Amino acid sequence: MKDRSLLMIPGPVELDPEVVEALAAPITSHLAPIFMEAFGSALERLRQVFQCPDGQPFILAGSGTLAMDTAAVNLVERGDKVLVVNTGYFGDRFADIFERYGAEVTQIRALPGSRPALHEVESALKSGQYKILSVTHVDTSTGVLTDVKGIAALAAKYGVLNIVDGVCSVAGEELRMAEWGVDLAFTASQKAVSTPPGLALLVAGPKALEVFRKRKTPVGSYYADWTLWMPVMEAYEARKPAYFGTPAVNLIRALDVSLGQILAEGMEARWNRHIAISNAVQSAIDAMDMNQVPVNREFAAHTMTAPRFLAGVNGPEFLKKTAQAGVVLAGGLHPAIKAEYYRIGHMGTTSIAEVLTTIGAIETALSSCISSYRPGEAVQAALKAYNT
Ligand SMILES: *Cc1c(COP(=O)(O)O)cnc(C)c1O
Repeated sequence: MKDRSLLMIPGPVELDPEVVEALAAPITSHLAPIFMEAFGSALERLRQVFQCPDGQPFILAGSGTLAMDTAAVNLVERGDKVLVVNTGYFGDRFADIFERYGAEVTQIRALPGSRPALHEVESALKSGQYKILSVTHVDTSTGVLTDVKGIAALAAKYGVLNIVDGVCSVAGEELRMAEWGVDLAFTASQKAVSTPPGLALLVAGPKALEVFRKRKTPVGSYYADWTLWMPVMEAYEARKPAYFGTPAVNLIRALDVSLGQILAEGMEARWNRHIAISNAVQSAIDAMDMNQVPVNREFAAHTMTAPRFLAGVNGPEFLKKTAQAGVVLAGGLHPAIKAEYYRIGHMGTTSIAEVLTTIGAIETALSSCISSYRPGEAVQAALKAYNT
């Protein structure tokens, strides 16, 4: 039987065939012209995807956590005060990373599914003398979307450098770095950027670069030090070879193909497609009477959905049944509510056909978990929401 299921988790995600083709190309030298062109082009395209014309892009081999680590280690010096706007598991992780590099961290937290209000962020900023504020655009553990535009404006008002963890948002949720005044944002290749796992992608804006240049102490990591990577990024962008650490040649070629597709779709069209797809998923979840982790629609991401299990449904059993029906979904991640919910990723290249397949698999699983369940309505609700 066909040994292939549909992967609908919040990363890694399904890939476009052209991206897969780039991965399967024969390995070249990292100094080959074809690779220099792909690396240079990917750097240029990152600036456009992040909407930061004056930014410095970095492409490093590693996962999203390396992007977090790189952001923190290059910008923080011992004793700096950092404010973390925490909406879940990845906020906790970022706070840990900042502390590891000697920052004094304050966190503003919300209950799982909620997010701190802008006035809470503002009163923290007022009282704090912070150097850096970080916010997770979409916390993948709760599916909560934050108001990055509002938070970046507050950070600018109080002269605080702001960093956006966009690992579950960049190329899926609206993000306009330069226009909104975001100083540094990052993502990883396997989320809405639609490339396999393995690349950390950062864009540092002018203020972040200035803070980095004015450091008094050396960067506390050798591998992640921008001093060593900057000449490499500059050289490749000029289509010249350079070496510090061997780049992930085929991943970068695949990344360039995917970034080309993203820009061909157009950023606004892509953000709108994510909204249409998420409306379809959310309506289907409502039609099945499932609650969601985000406490209201305004707080819910468009790149993923975090529905709670229906009462009486055994979570692991339900996820096993959806997998048997051909669709792989993810379990819970936030430690406080881990067993109560599951996660559907619908970022990147996700189509309405894939959403209908996913909802169909969920209804199939529910029918076998709950004998009185009558399938069909959720698929219709998804289609109806998508078409309006
Ligand atoms: C996935 C994710 C990360 C971590 O990325 P890895 O590639 O798993 O290291 C960080 N932040 C957010 C918001 C994420 O979704």
